[in-house]
Amino acid sequence: MITPKITLESYREIAPQGTVDLAYRLADGIKGRSFVHVNSTRWGGGVAEMLHRLVPLFTDMGLDVRWEVIEGSPVFYQVTKSFHNALQGQDQIITSEMYQEYERINKKNGRKLDLDADCVVIHDPQPAALVYKKKRRSFWLWRCHIDASHPQRKVWNFLKPFVSQYDGAVFSLPDFAQKLNIPQYLMYPSIDPLSDKNRDLSEEEMMAILQRYNIPDKPMILQVSRFDRFKDPLGVIKAYKMVKKYNDCCLVLAGGGAADDPEGLQVLNEVKADGEKDADIIILDLPPDSNLEINALQRKASVVIQKSLKEGFGLTVAEAMWKGKPVIGGFVGGITVQIVYGQTGYTVNSEEGCAYQIRYLLNNPSFAARMGQQAKEYTRRNFLITRHLCDYLALLNMGIHT
Ligand code: UDP
Repeated sequence: MITPKITLESYREIAPQGTVDLAYRLADGIKGRSFVHVNSTRWGGGVAEMLHRLVPLFTDMGLDVRWEVIEGSPVFYQVTKSFHNALQGQDQIITSEMYQEYERINKKNGRKLDLDADCVVIHDPQPAALVYKKKRRSFWLWRCHIDASHPQRKVWNFLKPFVSQYDGAVFSLPDFAQKLNIPQYLMYPSIDPLSDKNRDLSEEEMMAILQRYNIPDKPMILQVSRFDRFKDPLGVIKAYKMVKKYNDCCLVLAGGGAADDPEGLQVLNEVKADGEKDADIIILDLPPDSNLEINALQRKASVVIQKSLKEGFGLTVAEAMWKGKPVIGGFVGGITVQIVYGQTGYTVNSEEGCAYQIRYLLNNPSFAARMGQQAKEYTRRNFLITRHLCDYLALLNMGIHT
C-alpha cells in the first residue's frame, strides 16, 4: 500500500496555532542528520500506525529518516508476546531457551539491518537487544509503548541490561518510569487527523462503507481493538448485556491481528463463542488496511469503549475523541490521562461501571454530544501528530547536540 505524500504544511489549520512553525524551527537544528526507527511489525497495533504517519512527515521536513522492521521466528514472537504480558504484570513462564531465542533473533537482525544513523529509535522490547550495534557517537533511544510500571521482575531483570546501554528511555506516562541509570523522558503518542483513519467523512461516504457490514439500525456501542485479553473484549460483552436489558442497542467489536501477536486468533474464537448467539453483537475481523472502515465505525458509534485492563496509551481512545465521541475507558495506564473524567468521557473499573456509564450516555444524547466536542478539543491540544513530531525533534536536537 502506498502512503500518499504527507506535508507538514497541511496541518497548519488543524493543529494548535504555532505548532507547525515550531516543528520547522526544531527541524532546522538537525538538518542533514540521519535517523532510523526500528520496530517489530509493519502492520497492526499502535506503533506501526504512528510510524506510517510520522516517518513521511519527518521526510517532508527534509530529514533523512528510515523505518526498519525486524524479522522473527514463530518462537521469537511467542517469547516477545510473553515479555509483553510479563512487563504488563502477568505471570509468565519463560525458559532459558526462550531468552536465548530472543537474543539469537536480535543478533540475526543486527547483522541484516542498516542501523548506521546519527540517531536510532528502538520501539518496544522486541528489538531492544539490538543495542549491541550502538556506535559510540550515535544517539540511541528505547521507546517503550507499553505499561511497564509493574513488570514481572525476572523479565525486567533480563531486559534491563539492554535498556541501560541506551542514551535514554522514553515512556508514555510518568508512572511507567523505571529505576534506570539513563535519562528517562515522557512522550504521549498521537493520532494523525489527516490519515484515512481520522479524516473527515461525509455522511454518504460513511454509510457507503458501513452498508457491507449489516449493522442493525440501533444506537451502536463500539470497541476497536486487536483481539487481546488486555483489551478485555469479553468484559465489553458482559457490560453490553447489562445495558441491553434496558436499552435497545447493538455492540460492534472490530479488531484484527498484528503480525507480532500470536494470541489473537485464540482470543477472537473466545469472543465469537460468547458473542455470536446475539444478532445485535457484530464481531468484525478486519484486514490490516481497514482505516476508512474503522473511521466510519467510530463516526457512527453512539458510545465508544476501550475497556482495557492494561494500556500504555490507547490510540483508539484518541481516534474516537477526535471524532467527537465520548469514550468510556478502563482506568488504566495512558487512558487515565486521555480521558478527563466527566468532561471528555468516563474511566471505569468494572463491567458494572462500564454498563452504568454507557446507559447514562445513551439516555442523555445531547450531554454526550457536548462531551464529545470537549473530547475533540482536548485531543487537538494534546494528542495530534504535530505535537508528537515536535517532541521527537526536541529530543533528537538534544541528543545530537549534547
Ligand atoms: N487498529 C486497526 N485495526 C484493528 C484494530 C486496531 O487498524 O483491527 C488500529 C486502531 O485504530 C489503532 C491501533 O490499531 O490505531 C491500535 O492502537 P492502540 O494504541 O489502541 O492499541 P495497541 O494495539 O497498540 O495495543
